[in-house]
Amino acid sequence: MIAVDTQSYSRDSYSTMTAILRGFRRTCPHCGKGSFFTGYLKVGDCKSCNAPLAEIRADDMPPYLTIFIVGHIIIPALVLVEAAYAPPMWMQTVGWSALTLGLTLGFLPYIKGAVVGLMWHLKMKGDEQR
Ligand SMILES: [Zn+2]
Repeated sequence: MIAVDTQSYSRDSYSTMTAILRGFRRTCPHCGKGSFFTGYLKVGDCKSCNAPLAEIRADDMPPYLTIFIVGHIIIPALVLVEAAYAPPMWMQTVGWSALTLGLTLGFLPYIKGAVVGLMWHLKMKGDEQR
């Protein structure tokens, strides 16, 4: 395995927002072409430009942002549906739980990609305090 220095990749040709959006699309934040996910959430190096993305540790930021976003979708919707229709409690328990789970699992990989894109552009690895 060839050691690649993260710092040697120039980020001058694209903005931070470009890197975030490329990551959100689950493509490499550096080249925008290759995929860097080796699984549902497992980050590997870019398959196109070999950018060493696997060393980036996003840790709790993607789940935090996912919970934040899904919570801001589910809670207002729950309140509006309750106020307008007042469906039975069992139906709300099953329905909102399933919708919350679905949205969370749907958003999480894309938000993780965006966080990895941001960290890549800021030259963060997530292990700065170790
Ligand atoms: Zn790449």
